[in-house]
Amino acid sequence: MTAELIFVGTELLLGDILNTNAQYLSRRLSALGISVLHQCVIGDNPERLEEALKTALSRSDLVLTTGGLGPTKDDLTKETAAAVCKKRLVRHEESLDAMRAYFSDKGVAMPKSNEKQADLPEGALVFPNSNGTAPGCAMETDGKWVLLLPGPPREMKAMFELAAVPFLRRFSDGVIVSHSVRTFGIGESAMAERVSDLLDLKNPTVAPYAKNGEALLRVTAKAENEAAAEALIAPVLHEIKDRLCDVIYGVDVSSLEEAAVALLKEKALTVATAESATAGLIAKRLTDIPGASDVFHCGIVSYSNEIKMRLLGVARETLQTQTAVCADTAEQMAFGALRQSGADLAVSVTGLAGPGKDELGRDAGLAFLALTDGVSVWTRKVQTGHTEDDCRDYNRTVFASNALHLIYQYAAAFPEKPAGGEPLKTPVSLCPKERIE
Ligand code: ATP
Ligand code: MG
Repeated sequence: MTAELIFVGTELLLGDILNTNAQYLSRRLSALGISVLHQCVIGDNPERLEEALKTALSRSDLVLTTGGLGPTKDDLTKETAAAVCKKRLVRHEESLDAMRAYFSDKGVAMPKSNEKQADLPEGALVFPNSNGTAPGCAMETDGKWVLLLPGPPREMKAMFELAAVPFLRRFSDGVIVSHSVRTFGIGESAMAERVSDLLDLKNPTVAPYAKNGEALLRVTAKAENEAAAEALIAPVLHEIKDRLCDVIYGVDVSSLEEAAVALLKEKALTVATAESATAGLIAKRLTDIPGASDVFHCGIVSYSNEIKMRLLGVARETLQTQTAVCADTAEQMAFGALRQSGADLAVSVTGLAGPGKDELGRDAGLAFLALTDGVSVWTRKVQTGHTEDDCRDYNRTVFASNALHLIYQYAAAFPEKPAGGEPLKTPVSLCPKERIE
């Protein structure tokens, strides 16, 4: 079964809003085994919408639209689609009752203009709207189907999951299952080289991606049902884990921070941060994860040298002789944060986010990180290679990711909590050499 998606809304064409419905529906349809072959964005213009619907129906089995189901004059998707499918609009009393209940629950009178939302194509299968007023629907025309969904993502997603998915299951010829293997500290091409023979597989497919300084592999299988797809994926995933075990930090985890927080929790460790170049980004990313309060102690944004010295105890001499961007400053910042916080470990970052060079002529993208547990200290030098005018965001993201990765590595190497007992607070012997460069 092939599908085409039409997104209606002038604000999408103007770039005022991002077409997030496109990503959501494409992903979900593909997971249902329905191939999306075309996507199209149309303004609130009935002639062009009519043309788009006719084109879509001429080449696809299934056409889904979002947007233009509202009560206002520019909302014309339903009228246009009904005309293309040669259907009359008829009042759907149940939808009208649901709408009245929706308004009375909110304690407001239903505007007269909303009534037109209860007019639906004759013979259509009605999709109730659990998060708004406009119902959606599915109508058949010459053996093909047109599905109309509302524009607001909250309404569209609920309707799609609750009403459209059960309807669409009858058309799907199998399911698509995919898993993401996330790595850190290796480039996309180096990662791809280590699994190059697997990249030629047909089912499952193995595809490399790079994002914000991270490389990931997506393993995707298509099969009759989920269990069969998982069975196809399992041996390939096993092989990938084997070959990339030194750089993988998670499968199907959403981010380094999620992996780091999960491990800190598991090992009952707390962490503090001292950030210069990232100015709170590491703390922000850690606390984006629900339940981070169990593991995150505090974050110190020590942007000026004055604060590095006063709050964290960085030596004036270090700053004068080596500048703030050096391994020694990073180490002293980490020790300072550990002292101030009383956390189990502290991580620090000092670097050049850019653009431009520093007073020593060093390029943007350079950072030094340190992690200490009070006994040992590990430092890491990062050079992102990004020096362009708008490199600042990227560099800060990569610096923060490296800090999160250090935390992850430390927690991964930390001894397991003995069953039923207190966690061991023995220092990690991660690397006998005190510096990771
Ligand atoms: P309403 O009853 O709110 O008018 P509608 O079904 O008529 O709903 P639109 O008027 O087309 O939908 O869009 C309403 C709002 O929904 C838009 O202003 C936008 O915020 C959001 N929206 C619409 N289409 C999309 C899309 N493709 N991706 C993300 N958001 C969207
Ligand atoms: Mg509208």
